Amino acid sequence: MSARSSKKLPNYYEVLNVGSDATAAEVKDAFRRLALELHPDVNDDPDDHARFRLANEAYRVLSDPTQRKTYDTMRLLDLGLPIGRLKEWLDDPIRMQGALNKIATVLAVASGLFRPKPGRDGRDLTIPASISHADSYAGCERAFDYGREADCETCKGTGFETISTCVHCGGVGRLRSDYFPLVAKRCPRCETRGWIGETRCAACDGAGRVTRAHRVKVRMPAGVTDGYRLRVTGHGEAGSRGGKDGDLIVLVAVESRSDGRRQGNDWAVEHAVDFATAALGGVTHVPLPVGTLAMRIPAGSWDGRRLRVAGRGFPDVRGGDAGDVFVTLRIRPAEAPDDARRALIDEYLRTVRGESTAPAGDFLGALERHFGAH
Ligand SMILES: [Zn+2]
Ligand SMILES: [Zn+2]
Repeated sequence: MSARSSKKLPNYYEVLNVGSDATAAEVKDAFRRLALELHPDVNDDPDDHARFRLANEAYRVLSDPTQRKTYDTMRLLDLGLPIGRLKEWLDDPIRMQGALNKIATVLAVASGLFRPKPGRDGRDLTIPASISHADSYAGCERAFDYGREADCETCKGTGFETISTCVHCGGVGRLRSDYFPLVAKRCPRCETRGWIGETRCAACDGAGRVTRAHRVKVRMPAGVTDGYRLRVTGHGEAGSRGGKDGDLIVLVAVESRSDGRRQGNDWAVEHAVDFATAALGGVTHVPLPVGTLAMRIPAGSWDGRRLRVAGRGFPDVRGGDAGDVFVTLRIRPAEAPDDARRALIDEYLRTVRGESTAPAGDFLGALERHFGAH
């Protein structure tokens, strides 16, 4: 076979029909069985001759512990080496191991395996915030003051004023295994930090962390609901030695209000109108979380009638459709009637009982004059 052949690494385990964890005895047995079947002395099929040569090659590699280890490493690295090169390397294990170590180191460094352990990420902090319906309806800005843990500036989070590079691992924090170059084990001396502490930091008493006052202004989007968790990226506890900062989570509580109730994004109101407005129709002003809504009451409305005004409820905090306003009408009880009002009510009762002959227009005009909104 020529050294220029571009054939990929053969799977010797498959050739011998054994698992990659097969023992030396299993490899030997498997080869013996194949040899009996395929040996040119007992078999004259040319295809079987080729299979026999491959089985022979597989056995030679897998039965030699050094060659097998090298072969396994190459398989793991999936080098896809030309077959001729593989043979050259298998025949020269020392050179092979050196080359593999170089490759493994390059791969491991590129994948971050040998880099010193990165710092710890900061934790998230939760802070409660009570806001009004008006703030939720329109959106608002709030400032929060709180203590935020961060690395001590004196010792940069190490807890020591002076540190020295760990000589055991050369500051890498991990050690390469002699046996298998891809496996990096923890450095027992520095426990992956890459340095050893010498003098304790007085500023943080060796803790490496201090709590500092922190202030952040937060824009609350219109429509935030009770129980909403607003995430403010990067304002939680600070990360340690290069770790990511945690987030601040503002836990929103919306104060209740006596003149209306939020249901999802809808605003539900019970609204009192006078007797005449309910009977004749008219315009009334309904309280919204911010301001009022001028609303037309249809003639002939009854107590408990539910009216809807689309799109005037709370904005949707996630950018969806705004809610609606639902108004439940309550007909305000009339004051104790004077003689004129008593006469009108009598007239009204006669009208609804079909006893009256008075023209309706006169009656309705008087009703509005005596009972309507002033
Ligand atoms: Zn070390
Ligand atoms: Zn310190």
